[in-house]
Amino acid sequence: MAHAGKKIVVKTPLVEIDGDEMARVVWQMVKAKLLLPHLELPIDYYDLHITKRDETEDHVTIDSALAIKQYGVGVKCATITANAERVKEFNLKTAWPSPNATIRSVLDGTVFRKPILVKNIPPAVQSWKKPVTIGRHAYGDIYSAVEMVIPDAGKVELVYTAESGAKQTLKLHEFDGPGVVMGMHNLDNSIRSFARACVGYALSEGIELWFAAKDTISKKYHGHFRALFQDAVDAKKAEFEAKRISYRYMLIDDAAAQMMKHEGGMMLALMNYDGDVWSDLVAGGFGSLGLMTSVLVSPDGCYEYEAAHGTVRRHFLAHQKGEKTSTNAVASIFAWTGALAKRGELDKTPDVVEFARGLENATIATIEAGTMTKDLASMAGIPAAKAASTEEFIDAVGKRIA
Ligand code: NAP
Ligand code: MG
Repeated sequence: MAHAGKKIVVKTPLVEIDGDEMARVVWQMVKAKLLLPHLELPIDYYDLHITKRDETEDHVTIDSALAIKQYGVGVKCATITANAERVKEFNLKTAWPSPNATIRSVLDGTVFRKPILVKNIPPAVQSWKKPVTIGRHAYGDIYSAVEMVIPDAGKVELVYTAESGAKQTLKLHEFDGPGVVMGMHNLDNSIRSFARACVGYALSEGIELWFAAKDTISKKYHGHFRALFQDAVDAKKAEFEAKRISYRYMLIDDAAAQMMKHEGGMMLALMNYDGDVWSDLVAGGFGSLGLMTSVLVSPDGCYEYEAAHGTVRRHFLAHQKGEKTSTNAVASIFAWTGALAKRGELDKTPDVVEFARGLENATIATIEAGTMTKDLASMAGIPAAKAASTEEFIDAVGKRIA
């Protein structure tokens, strides 16, 4: 840890993306109490507070993604995804798109989500002994779909026009009354890089790899994912054998059933929407969304770290009324430590990596010693009245690294 008066120097600027509501409050506290006292930290700061996105017509979001492309490592606080309610609440010009979707579409890549295991928080699924890592494809499908509400009877077709002008047409549906349609897409390049990223992650961690989809129903779309995924696995066949790691393709419903009796310790690779749902399910199963880490890895080697949870609005409303909240800061702390450790690794500054790992260990040790927020207390058999407030927890971690 930092010696009196001497801070650890981070060489390259870290891209910091600030966010909204309670997540923003926790973020600020973590930075002020656990990082800045110990680090000389150059920061390239982007404020994605919903009002700032509105003021800049959302350019700030694109700028933040480009900054990650430039420097290679960023850390992001949870942000509000605008919807009709939020447009009213903040008097926005429009419902700006999800910042995460925008950043992902600039960087491409795969989101890996891994729960933090703590000894005194038993997982909801008794058989789970090791973390289940979710590899979520972060491009396309419903996240960049086009949709249309069909007002009345009529025909909807899919038309592909090749550059040569040749057309292929497919009837989507013949409506005899009102309905709704959606068209979604993905790209071979993106699917291949997703598959390579998952294969690389499983090999580097030495864990089994599962990929699950529904190719019995979606023979072309899901079938295409399955085939390209298999290519990426075949390309590393020798390494899978050398490390005695297996790869399994499974139907998503089968994977769901198997997961409930498995000990964990595998990486489950999933398409975008499945990954969205499963990462929250796995987070809930391992204790709390507050214990779930998340990193977006782009094919050209950029990293964006964040907590998997959202802005925790309900707690923010209490905070605004002056009430003490017991919001779990662990995933926010690990977003920072993940980014700092990666920055240190790329900069070849081992003291930065060591600081990050030390802060992670201090965080886990604090919980294991019985100081934790309300979301975890009930699971650890600690009465809610004894749960720490957000600030008390952060201060307890701070004492361990002082
Ligand atoms: P959320 O912020 O994740 O919170 C949902 C509930 O989960 C909370 O009310 C709380 O439960 C519990 N929770 C989540 N994080 C927690 C933590 N750190 N400590 C303790 N409890 C925690 O999801 P949401 O309420 O659905 O979404 C709120 C906003 O966040 C939305 O505007 C959404 O767009 C945005 N969002 C952003 C991201 C992102 O930027 N990555 C991700 C998801 C959602 P209790 O109320 O029971 O205590
Ligand atoms: Mg989600």
